[in-house]
Amino acid sequence: MSSYFRPNIDAMAGYVPGEQPKPGTRIIKLNTNENPYPPSPAAMDVLRNFDGEWLRRYPNPFANEFRQAISEVLQVPMDWIMAGNGSDEILNVIVRSCAEQQRKVVYPTPTYVLYRTLAEMQPAEVVEVPYGENNRLPIDELVAANGAVTFIASPNSPSGHVVSNQELRQLASQLTGVLLIDEAYVDFADSTALPLVQEFENVMISRTLSKGYSLAGLRLGFGIANPKLLSGLFKVKDSYNIDAIACAVGAAAMRDQPYLQQCIAQVKACRAQLTVDLKQLGFQVPDSQTNFLLARPPKGNAEAIYLALKERGILVRYFKQLGLDDKLRITVGTEEQNQILIEALLHLI
Ligand SMILES: *Cc1c(COP(=O)(O)O)cnc(C)c1O
Repeated sequence: MSSYFRPNIDAMAGYVPGEQPKPGTRIIKLNTNENPYPPSPAAMDVLRNFDGEWLRRYPNPFANEFRQAISEVLQVPMDWIMAGNGSDEILNVIVRSCAEQQRKVVYPTPTYVLYRTLAEMQPAEVVEVPYGENNRLPIDELVAANGAVTFIASPNSPSGHVVSNQELRQLASQLTGVLLIDEAYVDFADSTALPLVQEFENVMISRTLSKGYSLAGLRLGFGIANPKLLSGLFKVKDSYNIDAIACAVGAAAMRDQPYLQQCIAQVKACRAQLTVDLKQLGFQVPDSQTNFLLARPPKGNAEAIYLALKERGILVRYFKQLGLDDKLRITVGTEEQNQILIEALLHLI
């Protein structure tokens, strides 16, 4: 036997996460779209006062306390919600439940790279359809690809644009497979596709506490869909996919909507200022409904700038791929972090 692994595992590259320097490293980290502000104080209180007795026992297999909080905040019945170990687990479970070799995974590009990784693991055939001019969703091509799972990140990464509910409705009504709308960045956007889960049996929305709620380290996300669609996914997820700490802390964070709104308002204000400052330096910066900007430096020398920033202790994201290799994806930091970035760029462009 030449390999321990299935051929598709040997053949795939594996997902490469953004660099994570050790805690305490003096670095300005604008590369993985974390929130620069701390988690909710109410959530941190729950963490500090957590009773060890709840660690001795197995956690609730459905993370009911967390689902209850989501249900109250979003006004969605609890049995329409599935909790995930990060929203990445929701995406993973939907691919494992629905896709295989002849049941394709389809998505418009450029977008979140993990969709491809998940399909390659399965393995499932992948169909990538490029976005049109001005981020026009290629609806006909996506429908023709006939995916068992079609992923749409909205707001999208790395472009930062939102796909309109009108386009999503057109797509959902024509697809026979599942449409997964990845709303990882919805907390920073002006609209949501949440109403579509009630209109279409084949639509699922995924969300995360990693971005808006400043809890990327907790690993908590959730999916919303009708119970019929969730029923298959519940069979596939790990039995105890949400640990007791994440469940309790996540519920408290979800209930602390005033704190969330305060952080979001700050991020949006900083996003507006950073956009202005980058444009002043000659960058092309399309509007973003997320907590990052996809910015093209005046000379398009994104890789050189990425490396020079890194040398100065500032991490941004650079994608060495066609259509993106002249741009940088920059997470919106605090006012002070953004200022340091702009100062550094002054000397580099
Ligand atoms: C960050 C991100 C996610 C998932 O993050 P989790 O930490 O696993 O919840 C999903 N989709 C997109 C587009 C993202 O950027």
